[in-house]
Amino acid sequence: PASTLDELVALCKRRGFIFQGSEIYGGLQGTYDYGPLGVELKNNLKQAWWRRNVYERDDMEGLDASILTHRLVLHYSGHEATFADPMVDNRITKKRYRLDHLLKDQPEAVLSRLYRALEVEEGHLHALVQAMMAFPERAGGAMTAAGVLDPATGEPGDWTPPRYFNMMFKTYVGPVEEEAALAYLRPETAQGIFINFKNVLDATSRKLPFGIAQIGKAFRNEITPRNFIFRVREFEQMEIEYFVRPGEDEYWHRYWVEERLKWWQEMGLSRENLVPYQQPKEELAHYAKATVDILYRFPHGLEELEGIANRTDFDLGSHTKDQDELGITAKVLRNEHSTARLAYRDPDTGKWFVPYVIEPSAGVDRGVLALLAEAFTREELPNGEERIVLKLKPQLAPIKAAVIPLAKNRPEITQYAKALKARLQALGLGRILYEDTGNIGKAYRRHDEVGTPFAITVDYDTIGQSKDGTTKLKDTVTVRDRDTMEQIRLHVDELEGFLREKLRW
Ligand code: ATP
Repeated sequence: PASTLDELVALCKRRGFIFQGSEIYGGLQGTYDYGPLGVELKNNLKQAWWRRNVYERDDMEGLDASILTHRLVLHYSGHEATFADPMVDNRITKKRYRLDHLLKDQPEAVLSRLYRALEVEEGHLHALVQAMMAFPERAGGAMTAAGVLDPATGEPGDWTPPRYFNMMFKTYVGPVEEEAALAYLRPETAQGIFINFKNVLDATSRKLPFGIAQIGKAFRNEITPRNFIFRVREFEQMEIEYFVRPGEDEYWHRYWVEERLKWWQEMGLSRENLVPYQQPKEELAHYAKATVDILYRFPHGLEELEGIANRTDFDLGSHTKDQDELGITAKVLRNEHSTARLAYRDPDTGKWFVPYVIEPSAGVDRGVLALLAEAFTREELPNGEERIVLKLKPQLAPIKAAVIPLAKNRPEITQYAKALKARLQALGLGRILYEDTGNIGKAYRRHDEVGTPFAITVDYDTIGQSKDGTTKLKDTVTVRDRDTMEQIRLHVDELEGFLREKLRW
């Protein structure tokens, strides 16, 4: 695996996986553009998720809701009031930080002084942040007195009182920038699912338990985007809202934690690098009954890849009309605007109730980063040279096979190779690349680095011009395996079966 983010960033730029967003104008912080290989890898990951969670199940429907979101959706969901992170400024450097991130990186002695100053038991960072937000004036002074360092300079700072910063991006719909036209870019895809609960239910007549799955962009104005594509301002999520009967929620929560852990392993992440983390009560979001995060050992540390929350009846309960008639258990805002009853009528008793929901919510970009980190391999070859190999699962590799003409100046060979590429491409297994840049050694090296599992070479034998004068090897090609570097010779008619087998899910 990669030992630093920097070596991944360098590979991603060099080979065309991921570029800084708006790079030629100095970059727009917290945005990234997926290049020719990145878009393939990301699409493959999303398709694998969709296949598993929608196609292979009989209790799931798909959805693609809009990104621009009515203000009331994010009012009743609680985001307007509470989707905020604590932020603090250094008066000297004018640098701004997310408070919990800043504290996490402080020397122990500094932290100890803060725990004492705010009378919080040592080691409870979450409680410390909460105490600081409860008394911001005192917290700002305590940070300065404790000598909290500014990561930008490594020097102690003069800190302002921390305050909350709402992370939602606002925009205006229509030609006039006025309060009434205010809308949000969604900060999660989930709300689009909740507000369509009745639409989907009416259209499909689903019975509980069932889920709605969605993949799409989400936007958060993160105070400190960092660690490459790990924390960005525009990202993608793969989210499921799985609706269950109250009382069955704990069973389904455990089920989904297991299911998601298994899936990430099938994608190639090793079990040792995946750590399920049960959030303690103090850390739980106000709406959650329980949350298990799936952490991954990224090169920059052990951090969240996916969160699986038991959100009870909070979401549907928040957005439904007739709140008083539905026996909602969660604490929700009184909804005076909703026109839909987001509830379920028990087919046996005829009674209405609000289903509980289990939410497995994964980040696509964090998934891509984890796949790259896990796959990145430096190997020493017998001749002492080093090679970099991206040992991605073949099904996820951006390019499935490179078809390489051994001699670029021999039309019989290049035409054969082009025809073979077209024939393999038509199998619909993903991208097959006709590769005629550089010499064959260079082509192998490049495809090792971008994770292409198979390099197929068309040579003189293929076109029936073997050195020994025979045509025994006509219509055969060499197939080189990325990981073992071994080459086998196959008849071109065998390639379809070979590739189908290797790329089968
Ligand atoms: P964090 O604590 O790291 O900020 P979160 O707990 O706020 O994340 P959720 O609201 O649970 O994240 O979002 C679900 C998933 O969406 C996360 O597990 C992560 O994979 C992804 N995600 C959230 N914020 C970002 C971001 N800024 N950049 C990239 N992915 C993100």
